[in-house]
Amino acid sequence: MGTTVTTETTVTTETTVEEFAAEASAWLAANAVPKPDSRSAGASDSELVWGQGEFSVSVFHALEFDEEKALLESLKSWNQAKAQRGYHAITWPVEFGGLGLTTEYARAYGRLESGYQMPGRHESFSVTIGLIAPTINLFGTPEQKEQFLASLLRTDVLCCQLFSEPGAGSDLATLACRAERDGDEWVINGQKVWSSGAQFSEWGELIARTDPGVVKHAGLTAFMVPMDAPGVEIRPIKQMSGGSSFNEVFFTDVRIPDTLRLGGIGDGWKVALTTLGFERDHSGSGGGGGGQAGGSWRQLLATAQALGVTDDPVVRQRLIDVYTHTRVEGFVNRRAADLAKAGGTPGPEGSLGKLLWTEGMRLMSDVVSLVVGPALVADSGQWGTYAWGEHVLGAPGYRIAGGSDEVQRNIIGERVLGLPPEPRVDKGVAWKDVPR
Ligand SMILES: Cc1cc2nc3c(=O)[nH]c(=O)nc-3n(C[C@H](O)[C@H](O)[C@H](O)COP(=O)(O)OP(=O)(O)OC[C@H]3O[C@@H](n4cnc5c(N)ncnc54)[C@H](O)[C@@H]3O)c2cc1C
Repeated sequence: MGTTVTTETTVTTETTVEEFAAEASAWLAANAVPKPDSRSAGASDSELVWGQGEFSVSVFHALEFDEEKALLESLKSWNQAKAQRGYHAITWPVEFGGLGLTTEYARAYGRLESGYQMPGRHESFSVTIGLIAPTINLFGTPEQKEQFLASLLRTDVLCCQLFSEPGAGSDLATLACRAERDGDEWVINGQKVWSSGAQFSEWGELIARTDPGVVKHAGLTAFMVPMDAPGVEIRPIKQMSGGSSFNEVFFTDVRIPDTLRLGGIGDGWKVALTTLGFERDHSGSGGGGGGQAGGSWRQLLATAQALGVTDDPVVRQRLIDVYTHTRVEGFVNRRAADLAKAGGTPGPEGSLGKLLWTEGMRLMSDVVSLVVGPALVADSGQWGTYAWGEHVLGAPGYRIAGGSDEVQRNIIGERVLGLPPEPRVDKGVAWKDVPR
């Protein structure tokens, strides 16, 4: 299943950012449709024209299965077109289809691409490209890297996270899904829940319990599991917002070869923390087709201007709160990206980025509620108002996903600030002996 990676690009590490941008600009002009309101590529973020085009501030999709599948297909087509030039993986090594360039080049491309119409966004993209691919890059064997990395980055295949269980979320290390060794194979039994995009994924990164006789963190192992393996059952969960972003996934005597084990036996906690670190470092998870979730500062300001409330001193103060938060968040994300560039694995600093992101979404919910007023809950037909309800209703989900705000604060308290740890009743106790 290894992939031969060839790209059509002439870019090398000698190419300057300006030369790279000129080439990318020409390619985008020939292959993508400019946003109607963009006067020049890269300038579009400031060009939102009130009343024109689609106004999307949703956090989660409210699509039927077929609609969501069609969205994913168009996202895949665009990513695969980019892959012909290596633009889908600018900072990744050439051997995996990337260009082996620095984040400066990736930022230059991102600025240019933002001037063009894109197919949309889907969290399966950020999970596949932003979380699972870098985890395999860190823990995979050479054979696993060859098997997975190029095809994950091209999104020929998608991957989901099979971590949370009905009895294990914030305290993920208590998870009970079992993987038992049988010769060269592992037999998996148990249940996962809240598995985003599992119904569209070919693969899942699974964390399972391989040794119940040791303390909870020590008895876990990570695997890559084919989602079409006999014994895997995926049941979508219907959300109040209409869509089914999440699933329950059941495993009944699912057999996978030991060659699909990711990392050493007993290293599952380390693997899981690494994936979660990439998730919490929002600057990383937003890349690679994840796109923006929820409303942006520009959309908020345009809404306030269109509704004629920017002279109100209270609204002005609240708008400045959002602007300031957005700028600080941007700087923190840049710092995290530079740390990653220097070769570090994501650490507790990722919790800070995630908290800033979810706090920013909550702040935007508060301020837009003040700006839009009753038109947020009763559709007046006015463009760009009722739609904000999708931001307000969706934002709390990301305060839970990938580790809740409270858990991020615990991590920062203990691992960044060095505060005393929370009391842990199961410390030093084998998982099988902990009362539950
Ligand atoms: C949008 C979304 C997408 C998700 N996608 C995935 C996915 O793809 N794969 C996957 O495996 N999981 C996924 N999840 C699950 C997510 O990781 C869990 O929901 C999360 O870890 C919280 O676990 P829980 O739901 O069991 O809540 P619990 O852990 O039961 O927490 C309940 C409440 O108690 C608080 N709490 C718990 N422990 C502490 C503590 N020690 N100190 C202070 N407060 C505490 C929590 O903050 C929370 O408010 C997703 C969830 C959401 C909302």
